[in-house]
Amino acid sequence: MTRPADSTDVAIIGAGNIGIAVAYYLVVNHGVKRIVLLDSGDPMALTSAQSGENYRNWWPHPFMTAFTDYAINLLEDIARASGNRIHMTRRGYALATRRSTPEDLLADLHRGYGVRATSLIRTHESSGAGRYRPATSSDWKAAPDGVDVLLDRALIQEHFPGLAPDIGAILHVRRAGNISAQQLGQFMLESIRAAGGQVRRARVTAIDRDAAFTLTVREKDGTASLRADRVVNAAGPFFTEVAAMLGETLPVSCIYQQKIAFEDRARAIPRTLPFTIDLDGQMLLWTDEERALLSSEAEGSILLETMPGGIHQRPEAGDEGSWITLGWAYNATASDPASEPPIDPNFPDVVLRGASRLNPALQTYLGRLPRGARHYGGYYAMTPENWPLIGPMHTPGAFMAGALSGFGIMSATATGALCAAWIAGAAQPDYAPAFTLGRYNDQALMAELKENATKSIL
Ligand SMILES: Cc1cc2nc3c(=O)[nH]c(=O)nc-3n(C[C@H](O)[C@H](O)[C@H](O)COP(=O)(O)OP(=O)(O)OC[C@H]3O[C@@H](n4cnc5c(N)ncnc54)[C@H](O)[C@@H]3O)c2cc1C
Repeated sequence: MTRPADSTDVAIIGAGNIGIAVAYYLVVNHGVKRIVLLDSGDPMALTSAQSGENYRNWWPHPFMTAFTDYAINLLEDIARASGNRIHMTRRGYALATRRSTPEDLLADLHRGYGVRATSLIRTHESSGAGRYRPATSSDWKAAPDGVDVLLDRALIQEHFPGLAPDIGAILHVRRAGNISAQQLGQFMLESIRAAGGQVRRARVTAIDRDAAFTLTVREKDGTASLRADRVVNAAGPFFTEVAAMLGETLPVSCIYQQKIAFEDRARAIPRTLPFTIDLDGQMLLWTDEERALLSSEAEGSILLETMPGGIHQRPEAGDEGSWITLGWAYNATASDPASEPPIDPNFPDVVLRGASRLNPALQTYLGRLPRGARHYGGYYAMTPENWPLIGPMHTPGAFMAGALSGFGIMSATATGALCAAWIAGAAQPDYAPAFTLGRYNDQALMAELKENATKSIL
């Protein structure tokens, strides 16, 4: 067994997908080997274990598109190098709306894909026209790039027969799918350990700074200290808590979001369905008795109002699997991640009702979810504009990689590579400064973000 180091070049606080990816790219891109990853629990056991593991390059801003395209390129490199150990698939994201001319969504697509938009967006306005290729295969190498915009109800019903007949448009984003976050983390941890990096089960409780950093760490056997030339805050929902140990405040809050997963015994969702999202808001139907009950509960009243769009569903565990997941990130209330998770017992019923509007066959599960169904959740750590924070902190020698909201698995590789490049003082892509604290001094960018706030509904 390796003796725990008492000093290191880089101490990374948090061994979720993000801290692990920072360590991995320090090793493989910059040859940094003296790394200690610290986590109070098992690696990959907090937020990174609750993710839907979906990825996409669909964003309404070209910086986020470039960032996730970079992340997907790196994921593809790992898939290629590892014989697809990370189970990368590519059936796309199907974004559904009842509107037949969703101008704002098309404008978002064009803004996000920038100069490449015209070549990437294909519009299909009738069944016969154009050649829409449905996602028959889950192989990421076989999928087309770009976006297919289906604006014909007959064409939509032909290819998405389970969806409600009132769906007027589908935007099928093709560079999208899912991966295994756990396999990605394991793959990276093997390289980190092989290079001499250490993973240590320890809670960081204080950080002092003189010429270097001294971290006070609480371990099974008591308290110890670790000297580090540089520290990285990758503490997920505890991002602001670790920043406070350095005397810094970050504009990040934590919002609890939930999912359910269950065996789809009734085969309500075809196994070939892409990750499918209902973009339209909706008012759920309740009986008078249910309304009275919900209005008497603290969290119940938002369920009586118009709920936001973003409800999503997808088959789980590949073509041969039988489980499905449903999610709806409608909660907008921040809470303290150190307290008991605010899991809402109404959620399974709410998400099923909402998802049944898009996929009516799901109604069969209302009030009778199959035995063994899972209801779980985790925190979206978010800035108000829902962009990440990756790069230097105010404290010299301290870096951060966090506020990854609902996109931290899909962007873990790029986040790790950018943060590692900041630490090594290496070249960065043009958009990298926009993901640092420096963006708050860029009034034009902040005004733009306020106007076109990145969607936080997923
Ligand atoms: C319900 C849900 C669905 C999601 N779906 C998707 C999706 O489909 N696609 C996607 O890309 N993203 C998704 N996400 C987001 C994604 O899961 C997160 O962005 C990502 O996991 C964040 O990783 P992390 O490493 O920053 O945080 P975490 O995984 O939480 O890791 C942080 C680690 O830091 C440790 N830590 C904290 N403080 C200390 C300390 N003081 N000392 C030592 N250790 C400490 C914790 O123990 C933890 O292990 C989803 C999130 C949720 C909640």
